[in-house]
Amino acid sequence: MSSDLRDLVDATPWLDTHEHLPEEATRLAPPVEGSGVHPCDDWAYLLWHYALDDLVSAGLGPRDRAVFESPDAGPEEKWDAVAEAYARTRNSTYVRAARDSIRTLFGLDLARDTVAEIDRRMAGLRQPGFYRTVLDVAGVAACQVNSLERTFRETADPESLPQDIGLTDFVRPTPGHLADWEATTGREVGRLADLCQVMGDYFDRFGRSACAVKLGIAYARPLAVSPDPAPVPDAVFRAWIRGEPIRDDDRRAMEDAIIATGLGLAADTGLAVKVHTGLHVGTDRMDLRDVRDNVADVVTLARRFPTPFVLMHIGYPYQGEVIAAAKHQTNIVADLCWAWIIDPVATRDFLRRALTALPASKLLCFGGDYIPVENIVGHAQLARRELTRTLEGLVEDGYLEPAEAADLVPALMHGNAEQVFGPMYPLAATHTPEGLVTSGGTRWSTTRMGGRT
Ligand SMILES: [Zn+2]
Repeated sequence: MSSDLRDLVDATPWLDTHEHLPEEATRLAPPVEGSGVHPCDDWAYLLWHYALDDLVSAGLGPRDRAVFESPDAGPEEKWDAVAEAYARTRNSTYVRAARDSIRTLFGLDLARDTVAEIDRRMAGLRQPGFYRTVLDVAGVAACQVNSLERTFRETADPESLPQDIGLTDFVRPTPGHLADWEATTGREVGRLADLCQVMGDYFDRFGRSACAVKLGIAYARPLAVSPDPAPVPDAVFRAWIRGEPIRDDDRRAMEDAIIATGLGLAADTGLAVKVHTGLHVGTDRMDLRDVRDNVADVVTLARRFPTPFVLMHIGYPYQGEVIAAAKHQTNIVADLCWAWIIDPVATRDFLRRALTALPASKLLCFGGDYIPVENIVGHAQLARRELTRTLEGLVEDGYLEPAEAADLVPALMHGNAEQVFGPMYPLAATHTPEGLVTSGGTRWSTTRMGGRT
């Protein structure tokens, strides 16, 4: 039975609920030194997102880090800069998942004597259409993108890369966001009412093509939102939008009003709200006390705004709260995006508990959460392996019959995502006995991973 289950999981496509991919055109252009999405484009780029956090946590200093991220340093020079830190963290899954992607895509094990050849093979792959090629290798039918380039990114490939509206940008705007909004809506933002109007314009214009709304504000503040925030004078708003210091309670009241407006628009438009909960990316900046309250705060929001709320990243390391919230609250679901590479053993344990405690329809089982598309490959492999192992374990322990375990696979890998992101979901895939057929006619056979025809 177990090889049947493994074959089924390998043959079933993921609907990947969360990535940060820049547009392919951005990747095809030269890297930009210091960029937050594309600072270099070589083997180091494949360890730059997430694995770099573990390298820094293991002692990589700022000077060596700068060499590693540089668009100009050579492959061995980069290797030598991180070799010591790499040796200390080669066991962690951020690093192992990147190595797995490199091995699958380029047929090479990451080492000092292979990095130059990995760079050559990466450049060979990096041609127009390579995003779709990589997603096929990963067995991903489509991935939902939370763009780091624009508040809403109109993509060249909406079928493969449906996009979120980035609500976070409205809560913590930068001069770049203001320029983006003005270019998109023609509106200048001088008062809070203008900002709320811009948000309305975004939902009017992009609400039908967006797959969801993303709220990542837990990186900057607690998620509790007052139902009745104090009004903020225009002068304070103007200081805030210019990035000048204002009182904490004014900031909080203004942010609360903006978040509530965005969530109200999401509910009116019928869009699910994905909320970052749990661990913070990066190093040396997380307030674990705030993180502990994330899930309880989202439950309060989910009662107030009638639309699906997606608890991202299993609220790690407070995943027990996620099970309780998704079990009790009808409009809350749990998303395992990012979690497999943070802590694969805890995530397997979470899935095992969730599949014995929750309606299986409450689980979204994969999102790579990556900027470089290549990294999705290793993460998707890991998630497939652990999903199979979890289902096998539940059969062994008598919680599921083998046929019941097999029946859950399509829902856990793509069906639940289609339900949650609902009629707005542009992929509009339908199931047939032969596999999954998308609106564009793309068909996934059920015979092998990457079996897109
Ligand atoms: Zn993310």
